Amino acid sequence: MADWTKKTILRNEALQKYIYETSAYPKEHEQLKELREATVQKYNDLSVMNVPVDEAQFLAMLLKLMNAKKTLEIGVFTGYSLLTTALTLPEDGKVIAIDPDKEAYEVGAPFIKKAGMQHKIEFIPSDAFLVLDDLIKNGEEGSFDFVFVDAYKSDYLKFHELTLKLVKVGGIVAYDNTLWYGSVAQSEKEVVEDLIKRYRNFVVEFNSFIAADPRVESSLLSIGDGLTLCRRLH
Ligand code: SAH
Ligand code: CA
Repeated sequence: MADWTKKTILRNEALQKYIYETSAYPKEHEQLKELREATVQKYNDLSVMNVPVDEAQFLAMLLKLMNAKKTLEIGVFTGYSLLTTALTLPEDGKVIAIDPDKEAYEVGAPFIKKAGMQHKIEFIPSDAFLVLDDLIKNGEEGSFDFVFVDAYKSDYLKFHELTLKLVKVGGIVAYDNTLWYGSVAQSEKEVVEDLIKRYRNFVVEFNSFIAADPRVESSLLSIGDGLTLCRRLH
């Protein structure tokens, strides 16, 4: 059931196609489309790591509603969610984007440039744990409007402790893939695919932790592969 080459937990292909084709693709920015296609060309099935187009449009809407100006992205890959963010931020907005995979970033970089969005992006080719510690040491606590976490799912709980320091009170930390291809609702035995098996228990543990964490208000959305929004309360 949980086929990881699908970007979404929707298991009704006709409905997925309907959402993409009637609602999402018609408003996809030209360079996002180009970046998406270049990622498929280079990475084939792994291109599934880019957020799907409907989720990206939801994130853009959320950032606009929040008037986000300063954001952080952990896990960039070729930059679909990053370019979405940059296109959404105001002219003087800024996104700090962290990923040690510089090669993947280079695949998306020409489209970021073509879209004229480079000036809003500070890409740091590094392990985010090192950078987040530096940001905290450098007095950036409570300064981010929005944080998007999309790195290895086994690290989400550790990231949560750091991102809660960096996001401002009332700001949002969003965690991607929190339904993990639907495997969170399957028993451990039912999950057969390696990649899904490897992280399923981490995601289950993360979801339970967030549901009981009194520091945040949270909402687990069934868009994309599951997106958990956490709003910092104090
Ligand atoms: N957000 C992107 C997809 C990211 S895929 C999009 O939707 O378009 C996950 C990425 O997380 C990979 O590129 C991987 O290199 C990165 N990653 C894994 N561990 C990381 C860490 N500790 N710090 C920063 N990035 C990390
Ligand atoms: Ca993701």
